[in-house]
Amino acid sequence: MTNLDVAILGAGPYGLSAGAHLRGIKGLDVRVFGEPMAFWERNMPVGMLLRSNWTATTIADPQHSLTLDAYKAVSGNHISAPVPVDRFIEYGRWYQAQALPDLDRRKIAQVESNLNGFRLTLADGESFHSKRVVVAAGIQSFARRPQEFANMPASLVSHASEHHDLGRFAGRQVLTIGSGQSALESAALLHECGATVEVIGRSHKINWLQGWASTTLHHRLGSFTKRLLYAPTDVGPAVLSQLMARPDLLRLLPRGLQNKLWKRSVRPAGARWLVNRLRDLPIRLGRAVASATVTGERVLVRLDDGTERTVDHVLLGTGYKVDISKYDFLAPELAAAIRQVNGYPLLHDGLETSVRGLHILGAPAAWSFGPLMQFVSGTHYASRSLTRCIARKANGQ
Ligand SMILES: Cc1cc2nc3c(=O)[nH]c(=O)nc-3n(C[C@H](O)[C@H](O)[C@H](O)COP(=O)(O)OP(=O)(O)OC[C@H]3O[C@@H](n4cnc5c(N)ncnc54)[C@H](O)[C@@H]3O)c2cc1C
Repeated sequence: MTNLDVAILGAGPYGLSAGAHLRGIKGLDVRVFGEPMAFWERNMPVGMLLRSNWTATTIADPQHSLTLDAYKAVSGNHISAPVPVDRFIEYGRWYQAQALPDLDRRKIAQVESNLNGFRLTLADGESFHSKRVVVAAGIQSFARRPQEFANMPASLVSHASEHHDLGRFAGRQVLTIGSGQSALESAALLHECGATVEVIGRSHKINWLQGWASTTLHHRLGSFTKRLLYAPTDVGPAVLSQLMARPDLLRLLPRGLQNKLWKRSVRPAGARWLVNRLRDLPIRLGRAVASATVTGERVLVRLDDGTERTVDHVLLGTGYKVDISKYDFLAPELAAAIRQVNGYPLLHDGLETSVRGLHILGAPAAWSFGPLMQFVSGTHYASRSLTRCIARKANGQ
């Protein structure tokens, strides 16, 4: 059986960045598993624009040579801002080809712990042994599906993450649930594809980003003030953005305050460039779904205001709820051994779980290291912290 020092599960921004950093530790046998940028390609809609700004859309690398700017320069690709999703996928694949050309595209079916590390079984049956495992598997397993729509067929109800090409809904009547970026952008894309769309949201108003106050702070107060108020990581409003960019500082605050600041930094919101694109769509806010029933080939949805509509399809832009027990590749005994809070693993330095040698990066790390971990810009912190921890342990400290 092949023996590795570190196996990285997942080749999205976090897995790629972790792999590129750990390759810098001499003598360490590191392998990254998974299809590069697969979640972005298969589970985000064609035509989507990234909400994070330019500086926050670079995947961290140890030499700072694989930035979005560097990709733009070498590829001759005229990438505009906001960055289109297909350009970001190309950038991620270029990053992988430069930093990890020998990446192993196979899926890991199971991770089990044993006396001296972990046994990994690939989907094709081959097994590996690794002293450490870094899970960078993203949020796909955590798609939130409201109870009212449980057990309905995928032809009638689907989560936004189940689609790549919304063009299949052209000419159909679609009800979109949610008032965050994913729901609103899906509604705009569906409308532009020729579907008839209505949006239902529980919140009483849409929080539009880049409003008057934020635009003034960003563009009118000069670059010095802007740098003072907003970190390049682009997570959170003015001032809070600086704190969110520093997870080690955030962790020193009382838990209750951390939770409040987290909520304030990533509340559901829509990018301002969606306003015009949604102008012609009916958007009903402050409404919840009371019940949903299948009627023939359609769905009858009743709202809490007593109104009803029958549609061809319901698209759930209802977000994600982290729960690492839903990672089906973790053997049940291993998942049970990880100390957790509300489905999030409790992580220590180096984003290591309570199971020695098992690290978890990305959104599940947000309970321990704040909302920065939910975004690409968190790769800077996560990869550095992971690398310091593994280098120290490799040197026997
Ligand atoms: C609609 C939408 C829009 C977003 N827009 C932005 C944005 O503008 N800016 C931003 O910073 N963030 C955005 N995000 C958040 C984004 O998901 C994260 O920033 C980013 O994907 C985190 O990278 P990751 O590596 O943790 O996860 P992912 O990119 O999801 O990568 C995880 C990878 O692991 C793979 N994997 C899972 N299980 C296995 C296995 N068993 N074996 C092998 N591989 C496996 C998956 O296929 C996947 O490719 C958005 C999210 C959504 C849903």
